[in-house]
Amino acid sequence: MIIDRLETFAGEGATVVRLTTDSGERGIGQFATGGEAVTTEVFHRFVAPNVLGRDPTDPEALVDAVLESPGPPRPYKYNGTFFLRGLGGVDTACWDLCGKLAGEPVVSLLGGPANPDPIAAYGSRLSRETTADEEIEICTTYHERGLDAFKLKIGKRLAFQTDEDVWPGRTEAVVSGVRDALGPDVDLLVDANGAYSREGAIEVGKEVLAPADVIHFEEPCPYWELEWTKAVTEAVPMDVAGGEQDNMISQWGKTWERIIGDRVVDVVQPDVGYIGGIARTMRVADLAADAGLPCVPHGPNHSLQKIFTLHALAAVENAGPYPFEYRIPERGEHEFMYAPEPRVEDGTVAVPTGPGWGVELDDEWLFRSTHRESTLE
Ligand SMILES: [Mg+2]
Repeated sequence: MIIDRLETFAGEGATVVRLTTDSGERGIGQFATGGEAVTTEVFHRFVAPNVLGRDPTDPEALVDAVLESPGPPRPYKYNGTFFLRGLGGVDTACWDLCGKLAGEPVVSLLGGPANPDPIAAYGSRLSRETTADEEIEICTTYHERGLDAFKLKIGKRLAFQTDEDVWPGRTEAVVSGVRDALGPDVDLLVDANGAYSREGAIEVGKEVLAPADVIHFEEPCPYWELEWTKAVTEAVPMDVAGGEQDNMISQWGKTWERIIGDRVVDVVQPDVGYIGGIARTMRVADLAADAGLPCVPHGPNHSLQKIFTLHALAAVENAGPYPFEYRIPERGEHEFMYAPEPRVEDGTVAVPTGPGWGVELDDEWLFRSTHRESTLE
């Protein structure tokens, strides 16, 4: 069996990849959200020519073979996020195909149970323009719907040169405000998106986050500053997390091997869409498990990435207390993209159990999307 057609459907909120084999079997995948027009161009020019004609039934072997291929076109000349985003579209379509061929959900192909328990979620906030009162209102609403953990944005994105906040005092007001409003039984996580210098992060961790009993401090320093991040990990009382931007495993720089081997963080967060798919995400999870570190994949949106992450998580044993990042408030943009769409219930989200990803794309969404294809000559 070989791949003889790769199609992209650029639609509302996401771009889907559909793979077709020479025997007419199909699988559905998706690119990471953000910059999809560029990903689509890179995909059809550089990824698809290296994927067409290959066997889709061993996705791990396929992604390695593509990355290590001499070409043409030569993948190693075009390495980086857009190539891996494109490859993630192929990988996720291959897993769907493999699941459908086997009549099993992807989770069981990854070594997990065919009927996994629903996965504990935390409510993930993506705004840092909000006031403490607005954060309190949104978190309270979702706490009433069953979520017992929330991740708040703190600091100012990549302000590590000055350690300035979005406005003076916002971080303290938001963290202590949500803690006071929701009480001691809720778990609080924070994400700084590289807001702080090494010294700034340690100070915020000790002076602001520790008194509010924050359990997870994500990307305290710019993600490329591994030594700074490691120093913060060693100095603050809560877990330090990171890795969503890091997409290199053993190829091209060994970033993940170093992050895990040197214990730069306490919790690793590969992103299925950024790292190049499920096979590479599971490889990071395995590296983390061998080192005794929890792996909590990144991916706060309600596109198909939510489905991919749920299947991966249900197969990961070292996923920590709140494995699933559930973006709040939910937004309508992906509502009709696929069905069934898992929603939070009693603080958990269920993994679809049909063959492959266990979801079907909406015909209307597909009809409205922009189609492009690459085929085997
Ligand atoms: Mg983050």
